[in-house]
Amino acid sequence: MSEQVAQAKATRVLVTGAGGFIGHHLVTFLKRRGYWVRGVDIKYPEFAPTDADEFELLDLRRWDNCLQATRGIDEVYALAADMGGMGFISSNHAQILRNNALINLHTIEAARINGVSRYFFTSSACVYPEYRQMDANVTPLKEEDVYPAQPQDAYGWEKLIGEHLCRHYREEFGLETRVVRFHNIFGPLGTWEGGREKAPAALCRKIAYAKLTGNPEIEIWGDGEQTRSFCYIDDCLTGIYKLMRSDYHEPLNLGQDRMVTINQLADIIAEIAGIEIVKKHVPGPQGVRGRNSDNTRLRQVLGWEPEISLEEGLARTYAWIEEQVRARLEGTAIPQATLNKPSP
Ligand code: NAD
Repeated sequence: MSEQVAQAKATRVLVTGAGGFIGHHLVTFLKRRGYWVRGVDIKYPEFAPTDADEFELLDLRRWDNCLQATRGIDEVYALAADMGGMGFISSNHAQILRNNALINLHTIEAARINGVSRYFFTSSACVYPEYRQMDANVTPLKEEDVYPAQPQDAYGWEKLIGEHLCRHYREEFGLETRVVRFHNIFGPLGTWEGGREKAPAALCRKIAYAKLTGNPEIEIWGDGEQTRSFCYIDDCLTGIYKLMRSDYHEPLNLGQDRMVTINQLADIIAEIAGIEIVKKHVPGPQGVRGRNSDNTRLRQVLGWEPEISLEEGLARTYAWIEEQVRARLEGTAIPQATLNKPSP
């Protein structure tokens, strides 16, 4: 057994938000590296059983639950958040600010009290100020561009406070903190319907319905010329792990730096699906006009950057979502109750 694996086996890790998209994948990733993993969430993963050694259903807005979640834990990956795509975060400010502030304040304090040595916080590109993102052809965002602060939504303000919380806990209590700013992570086993899904999953779903029903029309919010970059889940997991193991404690971008419009994103997915689509532009929340990640510091700090192309990531994601849509149309969707228990 290598020294690294032996060390991992002796480390007890907590992943919060382990019932969600990135948290579920992260549990599997850490188990493959030999860690003992406890997953916590208010729900079980929706699409596949968890690989966690223990999975506890706990509401982390509550202090007593945070103490329970962090007991006997060496390292925390704090991913739990009340969040979703643009439709959700642009219209639930009070709920998002309250719920996420409670989760973040209680989780880090419970981690400190329980003697956790390393704490990973998942921030977001939504912390960047609106005034730097007014143009579709935006200048990529560097980490220091975050100030003077003016995030567009309460979601971004709450993440910014979370970043500061980590800084102060490190400086005043010696808790080793790591902070990542994700830029649009996507992949299979993520929310693809219901209102909390993000643009790549929503477009895959719409295009899968177009393909399977023969109606080529798909709705796009706004004129579709708003720009973003998108990062595939496997790169996200590698980045999380490299940052956690590094000695870098300032916030770090984690995303792709290839910017596309939402119209281009739809065209790439349609090509993967092998169909012609008709785009119908309808009013809807679009978020900032343009956003891209400047990966200069990511490359410097981790000696690495995301490698999986948008086309490859979308092909894997589309295949999974088309399967979900087909099952839905045929009435053969797998009942959630059979999926949600941890493997024996
Ligand atoms: P997700 O919604 O799939 O996962 C978040 C999980 O947190 C959910 O399973 C949810 O049930 C859980 N949760 C919510 N409230 C809770 C509570 N009170 N107690 C316990 N668990 C609770 O989202 P995701 O895409 O996996 O995101 C993971 C983290 O990364 C979040 O902090 C999110 O803000 C951040 N992030 C994600 C992206 C992205 O593109 N996916 C971008 C920026 C930041």
